[in-house]
This record gives sequence, C-alpha cells and structure tokens, in this order.
Amino acid sequence: MWVAQRAWCAAPAADAAARQIAHDVFKELIEINTTDSVGNTTIAANAMAKRLLDAGFAQADVLVLGPNARKGNMVARYRGKRGSTHKPILIIGHTDVVEARREDWSTDPFQFVERDGYYFGRGTEDMKGSDAIVVADLIRMKKEGYVPDRDIILALTADEETGASNGVDWLLKNHRELIDAQYALNPDSGQVRTETPLAVEFEATEKLYADYQLEATNPGGHSSLPRPDNAIYHIADALAALQRAPFPFELNAVTREFFGSMARIETGETAADMRAILEVPPDQRAIERLSQSPRYNSTMRTTCVATMLSGGHAVNALPQRATANVNCRILPGHSQEEIRLDLLKIFNDPTLSVRYLNDQGELSDHGSDKQAMAPPPLREDVMKSLRDVSTKMWPGTTVIPIMETGASDSIYTMNAGIPSYGISGLAIKRDDSRAHGRDERIGVESFYDGLEFYYLLLKELTGAKPGG
Ligand SMILES: [Zn+2]
Repeated sequence: MWVAQRAWCAAPAADAAARQIAHDVFKELIEINTTDSVGNTTIAANAMAKRLLDAGFAQADVLVLGPNARKGNMVARYRGKRGSTHKPILIIGHTDVVEARREDWSTDPFQFVERDGYYFGRGTEDMKGSDAIVVADLIRMKKEGYVPDRDIILALTADEETGASNGVDWLLKNHRELIDAQYALNPDSGQVRTETPLAVEFEATEKLYADYQLEATNPGGHSSLPRPDNAIYHIADALAALQRAPFPFELNAVTREFFGSMARIETGETAADMRAILEVPPDQRAIERLSQSPRYNSTMRTTCVATMLSGGHAVNALPQRATANVNCRILPGHSQEEIRLDLLKIFNDPTLSVRYLNDQGELSDHGSDKQAMAPPPLREDVMKSLRDVSTKMWPGTTVIPIMETGASDSIYTMNAGIPSYGISGLAIKRDDSRAHGRDERIGVESFYDGLEFYYLLLKELTGAKPGG
C-alpha cells in the first residue's frame, strides 16, 4: 500500500521532461515583452500556439485572434472524449505584464534569470509563471495520450493590467462560442500558503471598485466674519457621518464558506465568533468583534472610506470649495449607483454633491448599474478536486474560498454567467509578493510544485482516477 501511494505521489514529480518544457516555456514568455507601452501579446500568443501545435494539437483547435495586431489572444482547445455531455472547462491567463524599467531592477526584467533559488523577471509571479505551467501541463497530458472526459479550453489573453483591449472581454463579446464553459479557472488569483497555517486560498468571487467625489461649494468671504455655513465643515460632517455608519453585514455563498473554513484555522473567541455569525440570525456581538479586523470587516460588508481631501484657497478666506474622495469596495450583487444613493443617505446633506468618478477621471451624477454578480454556491466537484489535490501536495492544508477585494479578469467570466475560480498553484510567502514591483520573482521549487499541482488538478477535474 505504502509503495503504491508513494508511486502515485512521487512519480509525476520526477518527470524531468515536463519540468524542462515548463522551464523553456516560462523563459520564452518572460523574454517576450508584453507591456502595454511597447510590448506585444500577439508574439506571446503565437509562441504558445506553436508549442501546442508542436505537441500534437490540431491546427483548427489553436487560434490566435484579437482586435488589433498587437493585442492578440490565443485560444486552444484540448479535445476530450468524443460525445462527452460535459461542458468544457475554461482556463484563462493574461499574458500582458506591468511596465518595468531596467534601472529599477537588479536584473533585466525581460531576461529570465535564475538566482538564489528564484526565477526573476517581469511576470514571473503575475502571471507568466502560471501561463507556462498550464501550457506545459497540457503538453504533458497530450504526450501521454491523456483524454479528458470533456474539453479543456485555454485562453491566454491581453490587457488585464492596463490597455483598452481586454482579451477576456473581447473574446466573450466576439467569440463566446470559443470559450463558453461550465466554469473557469483563473490562476491569476488565489494563493498557496506553505508557512503556518498551511492554506490553499482560492478566489470564488470579487468585490467591485468605485470612487465617489464629494463636493461642497459656498460663496465664501472674509475669514474675520465666519458664518455657520462653511464648505469645509460640510465635507468634514459628511466624512464623520461615513465613519460612524458602516454598511450592513451581509454574507454570500462564498464568504459563508470562508468563515466556516477560517473557523477551523482560528482559535478561541475568534473561531467561536466566526461560527456565531453563520447562525440565523447572526450574533451581533460577534459581528462587532470580527469587524475590528480589517480583513474580516471587508469580507462582511461593502466598505467606503475617505482617501483624499482638499479645500479652501487662502489661509484668511472662507472656503469656496471643498472636496473629498471616498473609495468603495462593493459587495457582489450591488451596483455602483446603489452605493452612491446609500452615501447620499448617510451624508444627509442636500447641499453636497456626490458624484461617481470613473477610471478615466470623469465625474457623473449617476453611478453605473455595473455590479459584480452575486456568486452562485460553490461547485462541489471543483471543491472536492481542489481539496484532494491540495492535500496530496501539501498535507494538512486547509482549502479556503475567498472574496477578492481587488479585481481580476474573472469579473468578465463571472458576469457572463461562467462561475470562476481563482486557483494558483504557486506558493508565495504572505509578505513576499512582488507582483507589479521591482525584482519580481517566484521560487524555483514553488514553480515546479505549481506545475505538478495543476497537472493533478486538471486530471482530477476531468475524470482521471489516481494512478490512471
Ligand atoms: Zn495578474
């Protein structure tokens, strides 16, 4: 028994050929500049298409397409069993990277460098490492002659970080049939934690970002003759009201699972409080105590916080104008306009204007109806496979679904009705993320563990039995 188990765990890891392919694909991707300014994702898409074609994918199943010559996306279909009634699994990965300047880095960001047990280069963490892992795993499965019980679609896409040609959005709008799926995996979020407490965190829903500008205006006048009506006081009163009025407690299918899982990691009163907020009705005292933690607080409610402030034009004049920016992270299921109306109620000051500020810096009197879709219940098949494979890779680990407070391309697939899971097989220490920063890197062993993890996960999800 022991030998058999050992063989199942260790044999795949020993596949040196797969590691070599993963290494070469990773290096190739890092050394293709895919920044928005001067880079080109079409070159990366073509390079990955060639890798898959060389491994035996049919020409018709590997496409490179996009809105213009510099923002190409690759879509490849790994054919499953003929006549399968299962809808495909979609994997999305962005190939574009954040800008990086040679002078800021200790290595050339567009050279793949191995040093001190790490691979360095722009995109090693976010997210060419994961792109390379999935490409290499599909090649490995193809070479084995593995036939999944359904199609697996890989979309490597442009403009997740910046740029106007988001590949996932473009594909959904223009070629939905190419990437339509039962559910999607996106290795751009989620995290493997190999320090204590051991955890595999995966994203199953996202909050929505929104900025609002408050403005108070006033005729002003000489500061030696103050009146009660003052633009700065209006803004100050509004922000003080905001501070005292937290948005209501609300859980969804994902955050309920989050607290249920965290209750097994946490101890004492915190663990008990997590169980108590899952009761019907939830325990108000427990909510108050957990709200003291910024992370748990932001998981239980929409948050809106003052982030910028300005007002007045002279030290000896009554202010004619004062403004503040309020930044909100909105729970799935609520729109930007709904939150703007909530803010108006909280401020309760008809002289204040509260306008929505979009990504381009434009103000409007009406927020959009855009919202992150409320998450459906977690899929039991995905959860089980994820738990099984995580436990094999990192014994003793807890699998925890999370609600991202940032945003990824999953928002497009989720809003298109494709449940999406941010699952990364890469272990990064809790305080060592360098995504978007200088000297971005990923641990060499972490990379190959991720390679193994995705290989096992894809097989589990597509019907392979252990050892098969
Ligand atoms: Zn990313």
